Amino acid sequence: MDVYGLIGNPVGHSLSPPMHEAGYNSLGLEARYLTFEPDPTELQSAIQGADALGVGGLNVTIPFKQDVLELVDPAPLAKRIGAVNTIEFTDDGPRGYNTDAIGVTRALNEHGITIDDRNAVVVGAGGAGRAAAFGLADAGSSVHIANRTAERARDLADEVPGATGAGLDSLADRLSGADLLVNATSVGMEEAETPVPAELLHPELTVLDAVYTPIETQLLRDATDTGANTVEGAWMLLFQGVEAFERWTGEEAPVRAMNDALRSHLTEHS
Ligand code: NAP
Repeated sequence: MDVYGLIGNPVGHSLSPPMHEAGYNSLGLEARYLTFEPDPTELQSAIQGADALGVGGLNVTIPFKQDVLELVDPAPLAKRIGAVNTIEFTDDGPRGYNTDAIGVTRALNEHGITIDDRNAVVVGAGGAGRAAAFGLADAGSSVHIANRTAERARDLADEVPGATGAGLDSLADRLSGADLLVNATSVGMEEAETPVPAELLHPELTVLDAVYTPIETQLLRDATDTGANTVEGAWMLLFQGVEAFERWTGEEAPVRAMNDALRSHLTEHS
C-alpha cells in the first residue's frame, strides 16, 4: 500500500483526496491519499516523519507552501516561484516541486490553446500569480502582470523573463492587444465579483480563472458573454494534481477519471 497526502491547515475541504484516489482506483493501484494538519512549529518533523515512514509524496498547501522550500531540495522552477506544492520522497531525501505553473499551461493546452509567442496578462502577484507568470513566460508568452499592489507586480516582473508589471489600472491598455488573460487573484471566490471590468474583455481573448469555487466565476460569465474563450480554474487544479500523480507513481495519469471525481465533488460543494 502506497501512501500519499496533503499537508496544510486547514485541509478539511480539499478536493485532492477524491481526485487522486479516483486515479489510483482507475489504474488498480494499491494506494491511499490522506490529509494532515501539522502544527506550524512541527512542519520540519512532519516532513522528516513522512520520509521515515515511507510516504511516497505530499502535496503542500496554505500556509506551508513557502516554508517547505527551506526543508526540501527544491527544483529550479519551485525555487524561482518561491513555493513548493509537491514533495517527492527520493533516496536522496525530499525534493520539492511546484506543479501550479504546469497546471496553468496544461489547462490551456487541453483546450487547444497555444502559449508560444502569445501576449498574456496575469492579474495577481501572489502564489498563483507567480506560478502563472513563470509558467507562461517559460512557455514562450510575453507576460504583463497587473496587481492591486503595483509594486508587487513590478518586483515579480523583474524576476520573470521579459515581463512587465504595473497596477490594475494598466489592464485597459494591456488587455486590448492580449491573447491570454489569467486571473490569479482570489477575487471571485464566494462573491460574484471580478478583478477585470467586463468592458475590457474581447472575443480574441482566452480567459483562465484560477478561482475554482464557484466553477463558473463572474469573470468567466463576462468572458463568455463577450465571445471570449474560457478555461475554468478546475482544469488548473486538475492538471497540478495530474502532474504530482505522474511524478509520484511513474504512471500516466487517468485524467478523465480524476476529472470526473473532481467535478463531482466540486458540484457537490458549490
Ligand atoms: P495569494 O498569494 O494570497 O495572492 C492573492 C492575490 O490576490 C494577490 O495578488 C492580491 O493582491 C490579490 N487580491 C486579493 N484581494 C484582492 C482584491 N479585493 N482586489 C484585487 N486583488 C486582490 O493567493 P494565491 O495562493 O495566489 O491564490 C489566489 C487564487 O488562486 C485563490 O482563489 C486560489 O484558490 C487560486 N488558486 C487556484 C489554483 C488552481 O489549481 N486552480 C492553484 C493555486 C491557487 P495584493 O498583492 O495587492 O494583495
